[in-house]
Amino acid sequence: DAKKAGKGQIRTFSPEMLGLPREAILDSALRHALHTDELYLLYQPIVDVQSGEIRKFEALIRWSSKTLGQVPPDQFIPIAEDSDLILEIGEWVIATACAQFAEWNSRFAIGHCVMSINISAAQLKDSRFAAKLQSVLQQHGLQPSQIELELTERVLIDDGDYVRRSLNELNQLGVRISLDDFGTGYSALSYLTKFQIHTLKIDRSFVMRLTENDKLQQLVSSIIMMGQKLGMSLVAEGVETPYQARTLSAMGCDFLQGYLISKPIAAQDMPAFVLSHTGR
Ligand code: C2E
Ligand code: CA
Ligand code: CA
Ligand code: CA
Repeated sequence: DAKKAGKGQIRTFSPEMLGLPREAILDSALRHALHTDELYLLYQPIVDVQSGEIRKFEALIRWSSKTLGQVPPDQFIPIAEDSDLILEIGEWVIATACAQFAEWNSRFAIGHCVMSINISAAQLKDSRFAAKLQSVLQQHGLQPSQIELELTERVLIDDGDYVRRSLNELNQLGVRISLDDFGTGYSALSYLTKFQIHTLKIDRSFVMRLTENDKLQQLVSSIIMMGQKLGMSLVAEGVETPYQARTLSAMGCDFLQGYLISKPIAAQDMPAFVLSHTGR
């Protein structure tokens, strides 16, 4: 009877079972991960709306933990951000993405493409951030204009001196700046004029709801027009259907990213994808 009652209640492992907070488990496992090969990057192609050709790659971190299994970045990045771990992880991401991009550069004619890298606020607080990035670029023979850093609105609104200084240095260096998840959470727009921002990424939550109502379409269309007027290029993320792609294209969006084009893919699978998506 007891067994029957327990049926269907089988619990999968969770760190709480060990009596430790999830954060502590993740933190120590993540420190371990940095020194093994548990962290890796996937790359999601971003294509030109008109030609369908690849123009950018977004580097997305993955963690395959031997003890915890596959842990999604939404879970471990916030924990890394609570400590200095994010700095080490961030540097690893930059070094890995740049090395990979340099390799693709030499194998394929993708010199016109851009590698897009997600950056946490804490990384910009490092006064040596721009200098370190510059040295990685030099090491791999990459042009600063081939790199785009994806920052969220939160980073720009929290505009302490460190952000202003880092952003100015990055602008000087010539790397591109992309505003990620645009339109979610914050409504202060003044930072759009304070910093040089090259790209606006329209958040997936807007793209997903395009069919919902006319107001939402007007909103997305307005974001695109605003970006264009400020001289930025527009990327729509989370594009899953041909309808979304058509609608965004008609609104003047420049680039599309999402499962309709491709899921994030492993580095070793990229060559085949690149060859089938360049008109060369
Ligand atoms: P994000 O920067 O907004 O990344 C886009 C997320 O949407 C990715 O999730 C991607 O796999 C997913 N995605 C792309 N296209 C589609 C689609 O068509 N449909 C759906 N349903 N999802 C789509 P992912 O890889 O799980 O990353 C989640 C978040 O983790 C990222 O959101 C970013 O904020 C953070 N992240 C990922 N890699 C890094 C990194 O290297 N450094 C930092 N600081 N954060 C990272
Ligand atoms: Ca991003
Ligand atoms: Ca995003
Ligand atoms: Ca998003």
